[in-house]
Amino acid sequence: MFKRYELHNHTSESDGNISVSELINYMVEENVDGVAITDHNTISGHDKAFKVIRENNINIDLIYGVELTTYYGHILCLNLQEYINWENINKNKPEIIFKQIRDKGGLVGIAHPFSKGYPYAKGCRWEMKINDYSMIDFIEIFNNPEPIEVNEKALELWEELVLDGYKISMTTGMDLHGRASMENCFRTYIKVNEKEFSKDELYMAIKNGQTFITKENILEAYINQKANSYYISFNFHENNKKLISTEYILEIKRKGQKIITKYTKGLIIELKHGINKGDSIIVKLYEKEVNINNLLAIAPVIYVN
Ligand SMILES: [Zn+2]
Ligand SMILES: [Zn+2]
Repeated sequence: MFKRYELHNHTSESDGNISVSELINYMVEENVDGVAITDHNTISGHDKAFKVIRENNINIDLIYGVELTTYYGHILCLNLQEYINWENINKNKPEIIFKQIRDKGGLVGIAHPFSKGYPYAKGCRWEMKINDYSMIDFIEIFNNPEPIEVNEKALELWEELVLDGYKISMTTGMDLHGRASMENCFRTYIKVNEKEFSKDELYMAIKNGQTFITKENILEAYINQKANSYYISFNFHENNKKLISTEYILEIKRKGQKIITKYTKGLIIELKHGINKGDSIIVKLYEKEVNINNLLAIAPVIYVN
């Protein structure tokens, strides 16, 4: 079973124009399975969200979070119930703050890394020097309101780090400040075992690099080893009827190698040479051609072990 999460949302607790209660009801209408409250520099919405959900018996996962809106970039924190004082943040040593977030059980994310900064929106662009990328849990590769070319840079940064061996998850966000059209937007999913419910499922999926992103249909990719070869197979969950006749293209990337091929049901790709333990493989699905505008889905990264 797949669960859809909206991981970046603001309410009237900061600069949003909907209340916590309105946001939660809106997410229910949109069939979202989990919603994060990530107001700018405040956690005042957490208790309100918990109350709304409990009092109205709403079936939605609540993710406590905050967007630390610093002078040098926005740190999206998930699974964090306490506020972190960032005012004396060191631009060249943000790991000090990252560690504080993690010590409180939180996940450290970079929100919209290539957003326009000064003079348009001071602080929105990521300008901190990261010395240790193992301190980053996820990158918001699609901040849906951003222009596609801005998100493309975030995607490229994430790919580069993943191919270098970092276990960093990809996420998406609507960065909601009120109601917005979600059509043609990227969404984040995780795969969960219905029988073994765990309240830490989102946390574990992000820690293990197992998030899915898609505009509609979910893509999975698996690797199997037989003798000296590795084989990649795919599972494409089509739930949007209108796309069924489309021609799909897969792009499979690992360090130093890129395969582009037409996707057909039951396709298996043999990777013959040079696969090593510790390699990571990124699989993306496009409509008709490899072009950011045609990107439909990205499978969770395959980590060869
Ligand atoms: Zn932001
Ligand atoms: Zn935001």
